[in-house]
Amino acid sequence: MANIRVNSPNVKYTEEFIEAKYEYQTTKIESADESGIVVSPESHKLLIRTQAKLPKTGVMLVGWGGNNGTTFTAAVLANKLKLQWETIRGVQTANWYGSITQASTVLLGVVGNEEVYAPMNALLPMINPDDIEIDGWDISGMNIGDAMHRAQVIDINLQKQLKPHLDKFVPRKSVYYPDFIAANQKERADNLMTGSKSEQLDKIRADIRDFKSSKNLDKVIVLWTANTERFSEILPGVNDTADNLLKSITENHSEVSPSTLFAVAAAFEGCTYINGSPQNTFVPGMIELAERKNVFIAGDDFKSGQTKLKSVLVDFLVTAGIKPVSVVSYNHLGNNDGYNLSAPQQFRSKEISKSNVVDDMVSSNRILYKPGEKPDHCVVIKYVPYVGDSKRAMDEYTSELMLGGHNTIAVHNTCEDSLLATPIILDLIILAELCARISIKSVSDYTDASNDGFINFRSVLSLLSYLCKAPLVPAGAPLVNALFRQRAAIENVLRACLSLPPNNNMMLEHRFQ
Ligand code: NAD
Repeated sequence: MANIRVNSPNVKYTEEFIEAKYEYQTTKIESADESGIVVSPESHKLLIRTQAKLPKTGVMLVGWGGNNGTTFTAAVLANKLKLQWETIRGVQTANWYGSITQASTVLLGVVGNEEVYAPMNALLPMINPDDIEIDGWDISGMNIGDAMHRAQVIDINLQKQLKPHLDKFVPRKSVYYPDFIAANQKERADNLMTGSKSEQLDKIRADIRDFKSSKNLDKVIVLWTANTERFSEILPGVNDTADNLLKSITENHSEVSPSTLFAVAAAFEGCTYINGSPQNTFVPGMIELAERKNVFIAGDDFKSGQTKLKSVLVDFLVTAGIKPVSVVSYNHLGNNDGYNLSAPQQFRSKEISKSNVVDDMVSSNRILYKPGEKPDHCVVIKYVPYVGDSKRAMDEYTSELMLGGHNTIAVHNTCEDSLLATPIILDLIILAELCARISIKSVSDYTDASNDGFINFRSVLSLLSYLCKAPLVPAGAPLVNALFRQRAAIENVLRACLSLPPNNNMMLEHRFQ
């Protein structure tokens, strides 16, 4: 499908960039108290630039040999080679179902009574998944072909085609501090970096540089898809500031986790770092370091299945004026992630990440909930080896209806966990890369033609919240979990880059005479 071209004096296309004149309209809250709420509309003139040239991009996966790492690598290759394979239902062709950039569309407008949609990735220049180079680390030294087989996610007929390609990929040695992941992971830890934390930091940085130069890349993104770690303790003098964190690495302090060490290495190499697991990799010192180095960080924890649905269902109920009073979620899974999560401290990280997902929706409605009131919310995860990667998620939502009535919705979801996570990994990479090419400038009028004064997204890249279970947002920014609000943010920012107004669904032209 052809790219979209905007026919407007407000959009300028050059070889270097797309520049949009954009009127950003918001609502300012002047006061909000018992006496009422006073608001005023605000409007800001912006110039938004999107660099047009696509950088040659590579991704380094921490945990490359895991279910997600191998499935992602297999999916990129299967799509690139346009593979087809025989299944019990017929011939299957590689695709990117589950990826918003590759398999979802955006409403552009209406012709007569026909709505016109375009693929999301046709809106702005985005890197093509086929062009992404992959590398990574794992504490298990198994090659990616064998590791794909170990994961038991991909159809065997596709595995047979991919294996000769994937056998050539071997994960780099990684950092293993047994205290941070479950003791049961020791069995696979045979590919380990030695040395002090400082030496390991240097080694990770050297690995990033080696990958970048050997593949001739413009940009490397580092993404954690390794096991869930326990939370790091936030200790004054240890990880509370960037300088203390760096000092703690030099002093080999035990509370610096492997994931934080990778994030520090990424920051020093000027790379975006994405955290696909729930742990608090981004301790305050790490956030400060990212801001100091002007690199993006995003996370936490892929929002793939149960939480995604929760952030739709609770939003639907609360915005319908119905009051959820109890949300109970059971999961059982039999993959290595489940094995790791069967240890209490690692389960606790996941429980924390899953637990706050309804808070913003609940606190949005003071008619239903008193301040501080929340629905009961319980999350259970059990390891059941036989079901493998085919995770089961069972949720029960009980709500109060009018006049004391009750409604209970029960949902049972079964699917390969890694086939949900893999397209999210792709979107995180593609959108994080795109964000690095977008900059804005506030102007008093549009005659300002200077190249100066453009600013980038903040280091904490909250635009990726849609893809994250426990979104990290910059200090002082509101946290949004509601899925469609998160998606609308992405879509409307992409539209703004083309000087198109947000999709408001008003359709006034069809509603008045
Ligand atoms: P996995 O156990 O199959 O893979 C994790 C890999 O990380 C393993 O190969 C392990 O050897 C490796 N590893 C552990 N510590 C490491 C370290 N310090 N350095 C390098 N490698 C290390 O798990 P998975 O199913 O691929 O999931 C990966 C992560 O993504 C988990 O933390 C999981 O909670 C998170 N996650 C997954 C989903 C999903 O699959 N739907 C959703 C949200 C979050």
